[in-house]
Amino acid sequence: MSNRTFTMIKPDATSKGHTGAILQMINATGFRIVALKMTHLSEQKAGEFYAVHAQRPFYGELVNFMSSGPITAAILEKENAVAEFRKLIGATNPADAAEGTIRKLYASSIGENAVHGSDSDENAVIEGDFFFSKLEQF
Ligand code: ATP
Ligand code: MG
Repeated sequence: MSNRTFTMIKPDATSKGHTGAILQMINATGFRIVALKMTHLSEQKAGEFYAVHAQRPFYGELVNFMSSGPITAAILEKENAVAEFRKLIGATNPADAAEGTIRKLYASSIGENAVHGSDSDENAVIEGDFFFSKLEQF
């Protein structure tokens, strides 16, 4: 069991001004931020990041959306981080997300769903390394 996960605050939550509130929820839930940056993915970089979904019907829409504006990327540390963070963000579709979760509060649709959270320890490392050099991970 790893103690790290990776997240992005997606372009919808960024443009609506929710970055500070989401980081506050992350800290208040006991995650330590061990890497943090604001950046803007090109279409190519967004496509690479979500390459695992390349065959899904929503891939084009996802790549367009994720490159549509700035995002905040972060690596988070907490015991059982991947599962604990997915609990905090809630279901992919905000209509199914539990009360008090980030997606329930801030997501507007299944596509524009405010945040990303890694789905495994292995992917957490791959995704963190996609954005941060070893010198930027504390
Ligand atoms: P994420 O990987 O962003 O944390 P997730 O693990 O809850 O989300 P995935 O199945 O990995 O969900 O889908 C990745 C992303 O693709 C979703 O967060 C969402 O932005 C988008 N997506 C998923 N399903 C759909 C859909 N049916 N229509 C449009 N976009 C979708
Ligand atoms: Mg996923």
